[in-house]
Amino acid sequence: MSQNNTQKFPRKLVVANWKMHGNLKQNEALLTDFIQNLSTLKYTQVVVCAPYPYLAQLQSMLQHTNIAWGAQNVAKNEFGAFTGEVSAEMLRDFGCSYVIIGHSERSTAYCESDENIAQKFMVAKNHGLTPILCVGETLIEREAGVMEMVVSKQLDTIISTYGAEVFTDAIISYEPIWAIGTGLAATPIQAKSMHQFIRNKISTLNSDAANRLKILYGGSVNRQNAVQLFVVPNIDGGLIGKCSLNAQEFEGICHVAENSVE
Ligand code: PEP
Repeated sequence: MSQNNTQKFPRKLVVANWKMHGNLKQNEALLTDFIQNLSTLKYTQVVVCAPYPYLAQLQSMLQHTNIAWGAQNVAKNEFGAFTGEVSAEMLRDFGCSYVIIGHSERSTAYCESDENIAQKFMVAKNHGLTPILCVGETLIEREAGVMEMVVSKQLDTIISTYGAEVFTDAIISYEPIWAIGTGLAATPIQAKSMHQFIRNKISTLNSDAANRLKILYGGSVNRQNAVQLFVVPNIDGGLIGKCSLNAQEFEGICHVAENSVE
């Protein structure tokens, strides 16, 4: 039986995306630190998304803590002859509650289409995993002023195939591609405008789903800029790459999230 230690009423969500980093020893040190220093969080759900081989380690170390865990990708198929793929059911076997879908590092490097991403989103939901759907524009698209159109189109494939209600209790992470790993985060004004746009778009189709959707910001978040970002309306937390590999920095971000809850 899968372990699900997601908190009942988290207001903020902070997700670590370890990408292709770590090893058993480093992970153990990082997780031990997280467990020690994040156990008092009341309003913030922390999630660690690690490479597949370490999911068993996450399960064993986090299962009796307030920290949840997940994967960084999932197969669009349920099972079968798909060499190298990992199914949603397999993620559940290792206690995952969350899965990142459509991260730009994957959609760019492995040519993931919006249709593939939509299928993965639905497979995750059907298996009781919370999908963290990544959307966001390139620098050229932002400079051309078409960022809302781009993000809208990324959402439309899911909406037209499955309906807006699938966003109920799901997570969208707004991740401007120009901000990922560059040290150049979106400003609170830029993030505010896009997060509002996303919430409004879903709300016009299904207000209940919009209310129950969490929208994270991702892209060079650190414990300094998190102070301004996490108080912005419609920013429900962050997806954290680089800074999630540093215990002090990541824990600092989680405490900023906690203190941003009124
Ligand atoms: C990410 O990987 O989703 C991300 C936001 O990375 P970083 O925090 O390093 O920009």
